[in-house]
Amino acid sequence: MKSDIEIARDISLKPIKDIGEAIGIPRSKIIPFGKHKAKVPYQLIDEEKVKQSKLILVTAITPNKAGVGKTTTSISLALGLNKIGKKAIVALREPSLGPCFGMKGGAAGGGHAQVLPMEDINLHFTGDFHAITSAHNMISALLDNYQYQNRNNDKRLRAIKWKRVLDVNDRALREIITGMGSPSNGVLAESGFDITAASEIMAILCLATSLEDLENRIDNILLGYTQNNQAFTVKDLGIGGAITVLLKDAIHPNLVQTTEHTPAFIHGGPFANIAHGCNSIIATKLAMTFGDYVVTEAGFGADLGAEKFFNIKCRVGNLQPKASVVVVTTQALKLHGGTPEAKISQPDMEGLQNGLNNLKKHLQNLHQFGQSCIVALNLFSHDVENEVHYIQEWCKAMGVKFAVNRAHQEGGKGAIDLAEAVVDLIEHSPSQALHYTYGEEEHISNKIRKIAQKVYGAEDVKFDNRARKMLARIEHLAFDRYPVCIAKTQYSFSDNPKKTGVAKGFFTNIEDLIINSGAGFIIAKAGTIMRMPGLPASPQAEHIKIANGQIEGLS
Ligand code: ADP
Ligand code: MG
Repeated sequence: MKSDIEIARDISLKPIKDIGEAIGIPRSKIIPFGKHKAKVPYQLIDEEKVKQSKLILVTAITPNKAGVGKTTTSISLALGLNKIGKKAIVALREPSLGPCFGMKGGAAGGGHAQVLPMEDINLHFTGDFHAITSAHNMISALLDNYQYQNRNNDKRLRAIKWKRVLDVNDRALREIITGMGSPSNGVLAESGFDITAASEIMAILCLATSLEDLENRIDNILLGYTQNNQAFTVKDLGIGGAITVLLKDAIHPNLVQTTEHTPAFIHGGPFANIAHGCNSIIATKLAMTFGDYVVTEAGFGADLGAEKFFNIKCRVGNLQPKASVVVVTTQALKLHGGTPEAKISQPDMEGLQNGLNNLKKHLQNLHQFGQSCIVALNLFSHDVENEVHYIQEWCKAMGVKFAVNRAHQEGGKGAIDLAEAVVDLIEHSPSQALHYTYGEEEHISNKIRKIAQKVYGAEDVKFDNRARKMLARIEHLAFDRYPVCIAKTQYSFSDNPKKTGVAKGFFTNIEDLIINSGAGFIIAKAGTIMRMPGLPASPQAEHIKIANGQIEGLS
C-alpha cells in the first residue's frame, strides 16, 4: 500500500473557497491562507443550527503501543456519511509540531482517510500554535518585568505559577533558571518550558465561546501569589487586552478538506491529560452550523478523553452528543488481553477475548453518561475474519451496535457500513441528555472521587499532603466551582501505566492540584505527567526532508 504522503500527493485538492461554499459558507466570508487552507470567522456560528445538528463523538479503548486510530476513524466516518448523502463535517485538533519531529509522525489521519494538505497541517498550518506560544511567552516576559520593576518593594510576588512554552520537544528546557548574569538581566528565578499544547492559553482558546469570553478567561489566569497570599492574575497585571490581540486570528477555526474533498475544521490542540484534549468549542459549533452531522474526536481512551469531553467541553459549550463511537483494533485488544507485543498481528483468540474486558468497561462508562454507543473496528490488512466475527458477535451479545471501518484502505466507501449504523443509531435511539459525573457545586475532592470511582473503577482516592493543602487553598480562593481535569496515564484505568486490561482494587493517588482559572478547571495530578516531551534516540526528524520540491518523512 502507498504511504500516507503518497496517497495525499495523488489527490488534486479543490480551492478552499469551493469547499466552504459547498456547505453554505459565503465565499466573501472565507479568509484564505493560500489555496487550500482558510480561516472561517467564528461569528458565523448560528446557535439555532447548532441545536439541529447531530454531534458524534469518536473515542476509544485504552490506548497502548498498538495504536487505535481515532483520528483516522473520525475522518473515515465523515467520509462514509458524505458517501451516503449526509452533510457531514469532521472537527479535529491541530497536530503539535514537536511530536511530528519526534516519535509520532503526523496526526492528520492515515491511508485513504486523511485531512489535507497534511504537510501544512502538520507543520506551521495557519500559525495558531505560534500565536499561542507568543501570547503565553508575552505574559511570561511581562510578569518577569513586573517582578524586576518591583524587586525592591512589597508588590513583588511571593510565588510565580506561570512558565514558558515552545512547540518543540526539548527536554533540556523542562527546568531552567532565568535572570542569570548582571542584575539588569532581571530577577533570578526558576522557570521552565512546557510544550505549547500544554499551555493554559491553548486550553482557553479551545473552551472560549467568543473573543470577549477569551479575554475574560485570559484575565482570570492565575499567575502567582502576592506577599499576603492573594491570587495575582493577568487582570492584576493589566494586560488581558494585549494578550487577546495576539490571538485575534487564532480564535477563528481553520477549514481544510479530506482526501475526498469533504470539509474539515481543524482548530486547537490541547493535551488530553493536563488539559481536556478536544478541538475548540468554536470549531465544533461552526461545523454544527454548516453540517447536519459533525464528527469529533476526544484524546486517548474514553476514561480520559471522553470523560473530559462530556464533563468539561460539552458542559461549557452546552453540547449534547447524539452518539459515541468507540474505536477498537484487534491488536490493541489483544495487547490488553495479554498477547505478547511481538505477536499481536497474529491470530490469538484467547488474548482477544480477554482484551474485550477493556472495551466492556469503557462501554459501561459511556452508558453512564447516557450515551448511545457503537463499536467501530478499525480494520488492518493483517486482520483475520474469525477475529472480526468474534468481536461482532461479542457486541451483539452485549446489545451494542458494531461496524467494521475499512476506510484506511478503501476511503469513504469503506466506511459506509459504519456511517449507516451511526445514522440508524441516531435516528432510532440517540443518546440521552448528558448525565454528568458530578455537579458543578460539589466539593473538588468529591468531583475527583466520583470520576475515580465511577469512571476509573477505583476503590477510593488518596490525597497526598500537597494535594490536601491545595484543596484548602482552592476553597479559600473560591475556585472550587470549576470542573476537574484529572492528569493521569492514558495506558491504564489506574494511575499505574503497567496495569492494562481492566485494573481492579486500586486507589487513585492525587499528588497535587493545579489551578487553571483561565481555562476554568482544576487539574488533579495522578502520577507524574509529562508537560514537555523529549525526543527519542532516532527522531522522525532524521527522515524529514524536501526532495524534488516535495516534503518527505511526515509519515
Ligand atoms: P489516534 O488518533 O488514535 O492517535 P490515528 O488515527 O492518528 O490514531 O492513527 C495512528 C496511526 O495509525 C496513523 O499513522 C495511521 O495512519 C495509522 N492507522 C490508523 N488506522 C490504520 C489502519 N486501519 N491500517 C493501517 N494503519 C492505520
Ligand atoms: Mg488522534
